[in-house]
Amino acid sequence: MIVVMKHGASNDEVDAVLRHLEAVGLAGHVIEGTERRVVAVVGTVWPELQDELEVHSGVTTVLRVSKPYKLASREVKPEDTVVRAGPVAIGDGSIVIIAGPCTVESEEQILATARFVQAHGAHLLRGGAFKPRTNPHQFQGMRRAGLELLALARQETALPVVTEVMDTRDVELVARYADVLQIGARNAQNFALLEEVGRAQKPVLLKRGMHGRIEEWLLAAEYVLTKGNRQVVLCERGIRTFETATRNTMDLSAIPYVKRESHLPVIADPSHGTGKWYLVPPLAVASVAAGADGVMVEVHPNPDLALVDGAQSLTFENFTRMVADIRKVGAALGRPLAPAPAALPRRQADPLR
Ligand code: PEP
Ligand code: MN
Repeated sequence: MIVVMKHGASNDEVDAVLRHLEAVGLAGHVIEGTERRVVAVVGTVWPELQDELEVHSGVTTVLRVSKPYKLASREVKPEDTVVRAGPVAIGDGSIVIIAGPCTVESEEQILATARFVQAHGAHLLRGGAFKPRTNPHQFQGMRRAGLELLALARQETALPVVTEVMDTRDVELVARYADVLQIGARNAQNFALLEEVGRAQKPVLLKRGMHGRIEEWLLAAEYVLTKGNRQVVLCERGIRTFETATRNTMDLSAIPYVKRESHLPVIADPSHGTGKWYLVPPLAVASVAAGADGVMVEVHPNPDLALVDGAQSLTFENFTRMVADIRKVGAALGRPLAPAPAALPRRQADPLR
């Protein structure tokens, strides 16, 4: 249920609605729109509640919501959400490029990659410090040392950092270093972790689960939003199908579908979506054409030697070509690349700098 407040409704009038909801055992989430405020009602509602809320002064109308996800839905918030990752805006109509290695391997590797992608169009740096590996005997990431190297790379390049957090016990640590907390496909329905990042003060990049339906993905976002963190970016990264020629099947239709259903920004990860480096640029371009707010791609100074995901990692040269193609398609659609972060004012002081 959504309580739509009148233009210029006072804080007291909004509070009265919230108190009413609390008194009947429901929760209300206030959403600030450009035009007016709405209160999203979370919990199981009953038909009479509509009339009970409608009579409050300050309320213009009360609507039933047909979607199981509420805070993520355009029914509750029609206008696009813009997520702020350090100085970079995701979801404002411009195209954002997130690039970096699958995994932080060494100081030389992350710094060389960060410097290159920064100079050739990237807006954020990616790199895993905690890696979800199918095989427990494989390299699990550099962990805290990896986070420190990412912070160093940010200091050198001004690129905000996106990195994965896999465990509720690590959210505080990772949030101290990262500008954006990534929830990986394997944790897309780890509800305890989703709630924990929902309490964090950093934006969340939420991958679609490898077996996740769109509704399940949006409900995962709902877990984060419900805990108070409204800065969520959705990331399509391919789903498992019967096809084995590619690592996953990149679901391009999900991009415009989710953009229509939800106000949250949607980006695409064609590296995990395809598993093959030569499919990454065409699928990145196609994702932008389909309406993605950005792309996230894996880039490595020497993909043949990468410890993780070399087959899907772009060389520096291929990254440069892909950015040129994205720029052209974006221009044709009236969507420029976002401004480079070094050219933007820093929005918040970084305790590690
Ligand atoms: C990654 O981005 O490195 C990653 C592990 O992705 P996913 O969770 O989509 O498999
Ligand atoms: Mn990877």
